Amino acid sequence: GESEFRVVSAVRRHGRERREAPALTGDGRTVSYGELDARSSRVAQALLAAGVRAGDRVAYVGKNAPEYFDLLFGAAKLGAVTVPVNWRLTGREITAILTDAGAAVTVADREADAFPAPGRLLRTGPEFEEWLAAHEAVDPGFTGGPDDIVAQLYTSGTTGLPKGVPLSNRNFSTGERRGPHWLLDEHSVNLVASPVFHVGGTGWALTGLHAGCHHVLVRDVRAAELAGLFERHRITNGFVVPAVLQALCDLPERHDYSAVRALGYGAAPITTGLLRRVKEVLGTPLYQVYGMTETTGTMVQLDPADHERPELLRSAGRPFPWVELRIADPDTGRELPRGETGEVQVRSDQNTRGYWNRPEETARLLTSDGWLRTGDAGHLGPEGHLFLTDRIKDMIVTGGENVYPVEVEEVLARHPGVADVAVIGVPDRRWGESVLAVVVPRGEVAEEDVLAYGRDHLAGFKRPRAVVFRTELPRNPGGKVLKRDLRAPYWAAEGRAIG
Ligand code: ATP
Ligand code: MG
Repeated sequence: GESEFRVVSAVRRHGRERREAPALTGDGRTVSYGELDARSSRVAQALLAAGVRAGDRVAYVGKNAPEYFDLLFGAAKLGAVTVPVNWRLTGREITAILTDAGAAVTVADREADAFPAPGRLLRTGPEFEEWLAAHEAVDPGFTGGPDDIVAQLYTSGTTGLPKGVPLSNRNFSTGERRGPHWLLDEHSVNLVASPVFHVGGTGWALTGLHAGCHHVLVRDVRAAELAGLFERHRITNGFVVPAVLQALCDLPERHDYSAVRALGYGAAPITTGLLRRVKEVLGTPLYQVYGMTETTGTMVQLDPADHERPELLRSAGRPFPWVELRIADPDTGRELPRGETGEVQVRSDQNTRGYWNRPEETARLLTSDGWLRTGDAGHLGPEGHLFLTDRIKDMIVTGGENVYPVEVEEVLARHPGVADVAVIGVPDRRWGESVLAVVVPRGEVAEEDVLAYGRDHLAGFKRPRAVVFRTELPRNPGGKVLKRDLRAPYWAAEGRAIG
């Protein structure tokens, strides 16, 4: 029925029918669904008392903690919009986002550095608890419509400045249909390891809360502690980025992952080498997810069974039944024949209606007939599996040939002297751009070793022309390599803006 189109119905329904069932464990305590329902009602009354009304923005600047969900459901109970903000940004950047969103109230993590905020600013811990205690646990009873915005998430800022993405009841409730595909149900103990300011955190958790799971919230992702959580809480489900899988595989001791039904991974490219290692070390069923903030997260998935087929290991999977996917020419917008590489475009009720305060970027994002341009390049296999090649912005054009860096990285990563690698295009007088490999070395390795490996395993135009060594690659918290930072010094001399 209509009530299923409301994010807030999850906490009302489980709060009524499964009062005692644990909803969230984090920051040293466990909150049941009944408590989450009551605490979010107190937040709703506190927000009303502060003058917050339907459509207003409230912000959370903090790590993964139960208070975030008190705030999100409390805001939803009166129709206000929750804006989770990346606490790792500088104070100035945080203030810019709070101002962009127009936050009336901001809840900041007790550990967050001080920053100026528009409107009221509260800290988690005693101040937040007193704020709740001063108000009755009375649900204002707002339900709202399918197009009402529930949360506004900012993109990861991998290719430019983070952009605000308003997501509605319809977007999230369509996303809740992923629960069975992720094997989430009332018996799941679901790990929320991605930060809630990313869709891999909030979107993942809201799908799990709809399904009635017990969530284990991770404040700081440290591999050894994470492995311990799997054992202590008998984690059955979770979502992790490839960099975290790598860190779990690199732990010196063995850990027990036997309670895991399936682990999702995604948000950044993964190598087949790492996938094989995860199978050996963790031994859990895996599925890959592909999505973006603008699509309320995952819209394409490679199921566990498909991981048994080596020819599909490089695929991100197939779209969910309610998602349409096509490959189009990024310039003309025309759909391309099956097998050809172009821009991945999707259409579903998970798509946002557009960015917050960015009409020009919204016009570039959405076509008039409802297709969303992902900015990712890929092609479809014979059974409709999506093979992502790269971000269109990262593609290298050298001598008129397109090179997708991920393909080159995948090859170079197999060299034993390469611990980590990012491939970028740098200016080249003759070819326009040329391929450069930025390598984090393992042991003794020379530029010529890497170049020779490229010559043996890659087509001529895809081979790196030069190698530079670094001790680490610049990554954002989602584990994505910030290629614009790697490219910047090379292009600065050209006086060219880079994407
Ligand atoms: P910005 O849009 O600000 O530059 P971003 O695109 O990294 O940042 P997100 O919305 O968090 O912000 O990430 C979506 C992007 O992540 C996708 O467009 C895609 O490039 C990448 N991605 C997501 N899942 C996968 C996956 N399974 N494999 C490879 N890349 C992925
Ligand atoms: Mg993006």
